[in-house]
Amino acid sequence: MVERQLRRRGITDSRVLAAMTRVPRHRFVPPERQWEAYADYPLPIGAGQTISQPYIVALMTAALELTGTEKILEIGTGSGYQTAILAELAREVRTIERITALSLAAQDRLRTWGYANVRFFIGDGTVGLPDEAPFDRIIATGGFPRLPALLLAQLADSGIFVAPVGGRTFQHLLQVRKHGDTFTQADLGGCRFVPLTGKEGW
Ligand code: SAM
Repeated sequence: MVERQLRRRGITDSRVLAAMTRVPRHRFVPPERQWEAYADYPLPIGAGQTISQPYIVALMTAALELTGTEKILEIGTGSGYQTAILAELAREVRTIERITALSLAAQDRLRTWGYANVRFFIGDGTVGLPDEAPFDRIIATGGFPRLPALLLAQLADSGIFVAPVGGRTFQHLLQVRKHGDTFTQADLGGCRFVPLTGKEGW
């Protein structure tokens, strides 16, 4: 997976590649799909949701430019796979999921493997966690119809926000960087994510 899907497509961040080598992706998918856990496509995880394909996880994680000191907010815990990658690479992670069963299963997985730097929340992540802000990085693993002002307000100065933004079935993966009161934006390419529901979602 790391050689064929990630390095060959231009993922060069050695910390991201090492984390994706360490985290056992097959433990985050349903037992009947474990044989295809490392395939080059998303997989169902129950409740109509999916775990993103490995390349997208790597691309989004690399776009966060993590050094190990960051406090991160993740919206859309899902299986907890992306959460585990973030926990490997940053200081602390807060992750929010709106579907209780998915969050509880992810909590079980990550606690079993000893990730002590993750805190789980259940609810509408599109409004963020104002009481816990600011965050050095914010990542959303579902699509927004537009850039979410409530979340960008929770970004620390020089912080980075990475999320798909666009239509219900096709979005652009955006990397938004905060500089004081202004933001700059890079388009990392087209993508297909499940939509985020909620106040700033669909
Ligand atoms: N990153 C996850 C993983 O590694 O398995 C995959 C996430 S899946 C593509 C998107 C997730 O966002 C789903 O689990 C969905 O329930 C969740 N979601 C949708 N709307 C949400 C909201 N408003 N707040 C929090 N989570 C939400």
